Formats: sequence, C-alpha cells, structure tokens
Amino acid sequence: MKKVLIIEDENKISRFLQLELEHEGYAPETAEEGRKGYTMAQAGKYDIIILDLMLPNLSGIEICRRLRAEGINTPIIMLTAKDDVSDKVTGLDVGANDYMTKPFAIEELLARMRVALKNSDKVASSPVVKAGRLTLDRDKYEVRFDDTLITLTKKEFELLSYLMINKNIVLSREQIVESVWGYEYEAETNVTDVYIRYLRSKIDEVYGTNYIRTVRGVGYQFRDEE
Ligand code: CA
Repeated sequence: MKKVLIIEDENKISRFLQLELEHEGYAPETAEEGRKGYTMAQAGKYDIIILDLMLPNLSGIEICRRLRAEGINTPIIMLTAKDDVSDKVTGLDVGANDYMTKPFAIEELLARMRVALKNSDKVASSPVVKAGRLTLDRDKYEVRFDDTLITLTKKEFELLSYLMINKNIVLSREQIVESVWGYEYEAETNVTDVYIRYLRSKIDEVYGTNYIRTVRGVGYQFRDEE
C-alpha cells in the first residue's frame, strides 16, 4: 500500500483527501501545519507527498526546498490556492514534481499521483546510475570509469552509490551515515570522512577528476562536472 503524506492546514480539504485516498487504496497520513509536516516528511517513509503551498509555521515552498536539499526525493505534488503562475514556477524550481490549483477535481489529482509514483518507481528500480564518466551498476556491484573497472569494498560502493544517486545535492555527514551505515552509527559521523578519503584515492586521485567535493561545515557533494 502506497503511503501518502498530506500536508494541508485546511481541515475540510485534508479530511476530503484522506477519505478519497483511503477509498483508492492508499495509506494517507496528515499534518496540519508546516513544521510538523516537514518533520514527518524528513523520515522519508512516504511514497508521495501532497503539499499545500500556504501553511502555518513553514511554507510549502520552504518544506520542498529543504527536503530536496537534504536529498529526500519523495515525489511532491504541490497544491496552490491561487492561480498564480509565479507560485507554480517557484514550486517546480524548488523541486516539486507537479502542482495543482485549488479547487481541483480529485480524479485529476489521482491521475497525477499515479504518474509521479510511476516515474519515481522507475528511478528507484533502475540498477544503473551514471554521473560524470562513472557508471555504477547496483545489480552487479560494479563501478566503471569509462570502461575501466574500479574495485571498491561493499561500504565504499554503497557510499558512492548514495552520492551518485543524489548527485549535485549537498549531503550532510549525518544523512550519509544514516543512509549508508544505518541509525546505530549516527554518533560516528567521522566514518564518512574516512570512507570519502578511500573513494577519492580510488577515483579522483587516479583519474584526475574532482567529483567528490567537501562542503565546509556541512558535508559532501558529488559533482558530475569536472
Ligand atoms: Ca493553506
């Protein structure tokens, strides 16, 4: 069952969406204000997020911008109250997948949700990730620079995979540790620094590239331009 997070402060709309989505076989959860919605979305356990633009405490735009900056790629459909082009453009600029103007027909929202979910399934299930001149095959556990095979340990591979999937996004040490090593390692974020060093010595130092960047005070970023 697909989990949907509805972040919407208008009780009537939120309740309506919840009932309709349950009826369609989704598992919806709701947040009635921005900060709570953001915290729930950060957990990353939702398949899709329906996000209202105007919210108390934290706006839809800000939630979307923050989630994307943190490497959370859950599809987001934004709801805008007014038919304002600049809101739509801003929503898409900060990484929303789609938007709908209120009032909307539920059938149209359901159709757009299906499209967004299908696209995200495609990304998640594709075993091959390409960035720069690197190709990583998650089925075969293989990484190549052009055609040359690079030998990595399992953790090095998983770290590189996480960085490449989230290429051009700045990732904090905490995020990296949580995704690659799991929650129990959270206190030891310097494990990231050690493994980043291993990856650089096997990739950037060998091929003269500069893919793995340090972002001072934050963490790391995979940049696919050389
Ligand atoms: Ca609102």
